[in-house]
Parts: sequence; C-alpha cells; structure tokens
Amino acid sequence: GNAAPAKAAPSRAAARSSVVLTHPDRIYWPEDGITKEGLAAYYSEVWRSIAPYIVARPLALLRCPDGVAKQCFFQKHGWRGMNRKIRQVADPKDAGGEPILAIDDLDGLIALVQSGVLEIHPWGARLADLEHPDMLIFDLDPGEKVGWPAMIAGAREVKARLEAQGLAAFVKTSGGKGLHVVAPLKPKAGWDEAKAFAKALASDMAEDTPDSFVAVATKARRPGRIFVDYLRNGRGATAVAPYSTRARVGAAVSMPVAWGELTDALSPSFYTVGNAPARLANLAADPWADFRAAAVPLETGRARGRRKG
Ligand code: ATP
Ligand code: MN
Ligand code: MN
Repeated sequence: GNAAPAKAAPSRAAARSSVVLTHPDRIYWPEDGITKEGLAAYYSEVWRSIAPYIVARPLALLRCPDGVAKQCFFQKHGWRGMNRKIRQVADPKDAGGEPILAIDDLDGLIALVQSGVLEIHPWGARLADLEHPDMLIFDLDPGEKVGWPAMIAGAREVKARLEAQGLAAFVKTSGGKGLHVVAPLKPKAGWDEAKAFAKALASDMAEDTPDSFVAVATKARRPGRIFVDYLRNGRGATAVAPYSTRARVGAAVSMPVAWGELTDALSPSFYTVGNAPARLANLAADPWADFRAAAVPLETGRARGRRKG
C-alpha cells in the first residue's frame, strides 16, 4: 500500500524530495537557530522512522509560517495555495465539510516543512480504515509540582494496566511537559469503544490513586496530580506524532524511548532537532521496532476493570 516506508535513505532532503524550499534560510526557531532548510534536513534524516506514523493518516497541522515566535495556526483543513503534495481527502462522516489532510511520501513531509508546519498531529487511524483506530494514546499531563519520578511512575502504571488487558505499551516523550503511552491496536473496535476503554483505564487510575491521578478534563490542572488525558482517543482527535518537532523554544521533538530509558537522565523535552538524528544513528535498535507487530485487537467484550457495562 501507499503507507510503505521508504526503501533507501540518503540523508539529505535535496537528494530525495522534489519539493522546492523557498526561502530556505527563513528562521523557524530563532532562539535555536533552526531554519526551514534545517527542519527539512531533520525530517529527511528521520524519514524512515516517522513515516509509519504520519503517512496515509488524517493530519492536523500546527503551522507557524514565520516561526515559533510569531502566530501559529492549528489547521485540520487546507489553506490557500497549499502545496499539491499535501493531499485532501473527503471525510465520509463529514459530507458537507472540508476535506481532511494527508501526505503519502517524503515530498509530502517536505511540503509541510515548506508550509511552515512545525507540529504534525495525526489521527490514531489510517485513511484506509478511518473508523477503526490502530492505536490508543494516553497523554500524561503533569499538574503543578508533579516531579519527573511521578511522571515515570504514572507512565509505568498505564503500561501495567494496558498489559493486564493484553495490550502492548510503548512510551515517548511529548517534546513538551509530559509523556505519551501508546498501545498499538489491530483495527477492529470503533472510536466509541476505544474512547470508552481509554476512559475506563484513566478513571480506574484516578479512583485507585486519587492523590496521584485525575481523569476529568475540568480537573486537569490539579496541583500535584497527573491528568491522564484519554481524550486523544475520539474520532478526529489527534496527538503529536512520534519524531514530530514542537513549535516551542528549544526545538524539542516527541521521541520514542525504551521503558528502561525513563530515568533521571531523560526529560519530556530532552530530545531536540539538534540531538535526535545522532540518537537515531547510534541506537542499536529502534525502541518502537515492534510497535506494529505487537498490535492486538481491542477486545471490548473482555473484562476491563470495574467499569464494564
Ligand atoms: P505536553 O507534554 O506539553 O502536554 P502535548 O502534545 O501532550 O504536550 P497537550 O496540550 O497535552 O500537549 O495536548 C494537546 C493535544 O490537543 C495535541 O496533541 C493536539 O493534537 C490537540 N489539539 C487540539 N487542538 C489544538 C490546538 N489548537 N493547538 C494545539 N494542539 C491542539
Ligand atoms: Mn500532554
Ligand atoms: Mn493533554
């Protein structure tokens, strides 16, 4: 299918992409000295890693045409003069609405760079099967005064609960303030089931350890507690892609890590455009290499904690 990752991987954008960068010296991250061309080079280097998570999926895009210090726009639909490598696809559930956006290849990704897209936020479903998510995402948001060890413990808690349900769990830094725990699914359950499952897991955590976790969006900012944000799992909801850059000072990226890497040496914004390519080049094995192979269907008929029925 068209989601197949690239076959070969020369490391420079210019070598592979036919998309022309106008104003390659335009500065996207002023404090970090990262230009449009620098961003294209970053994405070209991580292309093989990022492709499975952004190709042939609906995308929401955080566009900052004049860089992170200026105005940014969160866009779920096309804009005037949009590059043709960014594809528009009708949403079958939104007949009268505007088309959703997708890319198919490295040209599409470099077209995003050319358009000032500094964050890529896919759905957890492929265009080929829009009604059946192929991953669940638990977005752990620290309230004030939540320390890093508590975040690590929270992520491990989500992992344990997912594994208890027969699901696999992978973790990535958000590139912002938190961690994302992601469970690959074989597309089978629908959005409502996926969201109900995620909500039940988050609610169980909040019920079992109310001093540590909150599962209600309106209480998300509770000091000392982690908001287990399950709301990324509805139809049309998005979360930042693995390897996507963030439109924040520091040019951090969302980085997949092994569970054993959750130590004091790490932080949510530790990996950046600057140090991520070297990390990937030096890694013995991609910590998410088994992500797709580990997918199982969400068995919504099976016991899932105390909230069944
Ligand atoms: P952090 O670790 O700082 O929490 P995050 O990516 O998890 O980083 P959140 O604020 O927890 O950030 O989640 C925001 C999510 O909501 C994003 O992942 C994005 O997909 C989605 N979203 C919806 N609307 C917007 C918007 N206007 N701007 C940015 N993100 C948006
Ligand atoms: Mn978050
Ligand atoms: Mn959140």
